[in-house]
Amino acid sequence: YLLQLYQPLNILGMVYRNIKQSLIDVEAMYRLLHEPAEVEDRAGAPELVVARGGRVRFERVSFAYDPRRPILDEVSFEVPAGQTVAIVGPSGGGKSTIARLLFRFYDVTGGSIEIDGQDLRDVTQGSLRRAIGVVPQDTVLFNDTIRYNIAYGRPDASEAEIIEAARLARIHDFVARLPDGYETRVGERGLKLSGGEKQRVAIARVILKAPAILIFDEATSALDSATEQEIQASLRQVSTDHTTVVIAHRLSTVVDADEILVLDHGRIIERGRHGELLRLGGAYAAMWARQRRAAEREAALAEIAAEI
Ligand code: ADP
Ligand code: MG
Repeated sequence: YLLQLYQPLNILGMVYRNIKQSLIDVEAMYRLLHEPAEVEDRAGAPELVVARGGRVRFERVSFAYDPRRPILDEVSFEVPAGQTVAIVGPSGGGKSTIARLLFRFYDVTGGSIEIDGQDLRDVTQGSLRRAIGVVPQDTVLFNDTIRYNIAYGRPDASEAEIIEAARLARIHDFVARLPDGYETRVGERGLKLSGGEKQRVAIARVILKAPAILIFDEATSALDSATEQEIQASLRQVSTDHTTVVIAHRLSTVVDADEILVLDHGRIIERGRHGELLRLGGAYAAMWARQRRAAEREAALAEIAAEI
């Protein structure tokens, strides 16, 4: 009985502390209020042990936010430790849902997800989330300093480590030019960062945290293509010995993936390496051709603009 009381009080306490830290962001508040309620640690659940490099396995995973509307339908794939799997496909297909399930914001409705052989439902959420770093589609920053926001995943990081992560994420020069540098406050009551700047802070955070498993959910979508290419090089470097799931809109970012999954309406309709999928001449090849034409048009327009 007391335990039942404790949980809501605990959540309230957490929300209160976060308000005190002035985390005044509607989306983050929503998450705090709703997402801890979705899943709970099993009594006496042990911590996740990442003993084999963080191999991720989705086994016939089905999921629905609302039971009347299935979102994922028996999705199976594996990311061997240290390898990269990319997920592409039309918007609304269920890509971000896969990322949320891996982070256990929700439990699967069918099938299972394992990391190094341990079902996510059998380990503590704290240990799971320490093992995973996410660069989400829409980054929410804390109403605090840039330093706090970068060091969030590893509060004990040294100054040199923070700067190194910021350099790799191509945000250091920008920060260094601010009058207050890393002490600049950001968010609602501080400096407003652009979508691309926020993404770079999120990337620096993940680089610093260096977890076994990385999830990039269209992590570079808000960046211009020059910055994207620069960061892509850093991300490749960061992901070399990490198990990585890349959700990508621009296919140029997935050509090197060990496996590419094409997700459409919650089903994997094609899978393979870039070259294999091009030879297949299916949905992926069509997406690739479409993006190539768009890129060529963009380049031609840029050339014309340069002449004017
Ligand atoms: P993608 O990332 O491929 O664009 P998502 O995984 O975000 O797709 O969404 C898949 C489907 O699930 C969409 O139809 C979306 O409307 C729905 N959806 C996403 N989040 C929620 C949610 N919190 N509640 C209900 N439906 C959702
Ligand atoms: Mg998405």
